[in-house]
This record gives sequence, structure tokens and C-alpha cells, in this order.
Amino acid sequence: MTRAVIALGANLGDRGSTLRAAAAAVAALPGVRPVASSREVESVALTLDGLDTTKPRYRNGVVVVETDLEPQQLLDALHGIEDEHGRTREVRWGDRTLDLDVIAVDDRRIDTATLTVPHPRAHERAFVLAPWADADPEAVLPGHGSVTTLLQALGDDTERVDEPRLFEAAEPESTP
Ligand code: ADP
Ligand code: MG
Repeated sequence: MTRAVIALGANLGDRGSTLRAAAAAVAALPGVRPVASSREVESVALTLDGLDTTKPRYRNGVVVVETDLEPQQLLDALHGIEDEHGRTREVRWGDRTLDLDVIAVDDRRIDTATLTVPHPRAHERAFVLAPWADADPEAVLPGHGSVTTLLQALGDDTERVDEPRLFEAAEPESTP
């Protein structure tokens, strides 16, 4: 079993509903057990050219799961969930109905053509660090240290959304 941290993001459509449905779909994957989830945050769109206030704002969240899937299998399953939510891939870092990224898997280091773990930009993204710290205040980003400390150093430019956590509170305990 490994513990995997997954970041969710959306800036098109009904973003909150999409994040909630995607979190439930992740939790329901075979070989995956939900552990913890964040509330949602909102922030200005980040594009390859930097922050863009003319683009629809993002909603982001984080879920923590335990899984016996290999990280690449997990990513493949996440892409399946993205596709179910109408994700298209025209522009890298472009607007999207749903983006699911693998942020960390225990303290494993992976660098293949299709998967880099820990996610190479997680440490500089408050929209990843803030919900991750919300889901797990003790979290550590391998190679960078405490997520809470990283967020304080970076500055938190996200806004907390007044909604419940992405997983139902009872869900983790209901698994035998
Ligand atoms: P981005 O999230 O950078 O805007 P995509 O979601 O389209 O772009 O992902 C582009 C590619 O990034 C994916 O096809 C995937 O193979 C690769 N990738 C590498 N490492 C990761 C990771 N840790 N999490 C998610 N995707 C990753
Ligand atoms: Mg992605």
C-alpha cells in the first residue's frame, strides 16, 4: 500500500460539482481507499504566460488516498476520470473542466516520459499546497519539506470556498 496525494482543478463548467464528483470517482477506483480530503480554494488562472485575470478562475482541492495501484496505473485511471468530465487537451495549461495531477506517492521519486513524482511544480503552487495542508496539516512534500511551512514562505494567494470537504466525512470509515 502507498499513500498518494492527488490535486484536482477546474476552471470551466460547474467547477465545485465537478471536483466533488471527481473526488468520489477517485475514492471509488478499484484498489483505492479514501484517507482525507480538503475543502476547495479559488484562485486566478495560471497559464504558460503567468497569472491571467481574463480567464475563468480556478477551483482546486486535494484528496489523499491509500492505494495498491502503481503510480502510472493511478495516473491512467485519473485520465479516465478526466475524460468522463469532458476534458480535452488542446493547450497545455489551458482552460479545463477537470485536471487531476499526482502530487506525491509516499516518498517515491519517479521520472518517466509520462509521470514525474513528486510533481515538479507543486512546491511553488499555493493552489496545491493550501488544500493539501487543509487535508493533512502534517504533510511533507518529499525534497521540499513541510507543506504548511512551504505555503507560509510562498504566500497563500488562494481564497477558501465555503463548502464542505470533497469527501463525505463518513466515507473513509465505511470501508471494512
Ligand atoms: P497540465 O496538468 O500540465 O496542464 P495535462 O494535465 O494535460 O497538463 O498533463 C500533461 C501530461 O503530464 C500528462 O499526459 C502526464 O503524462 C504528464 N505528467 C507527468 N507527471 C505528472 C503528474 N505527476 N501528474 C499528472 N500528470 C503528469
Ligand atoms: Mg494535469
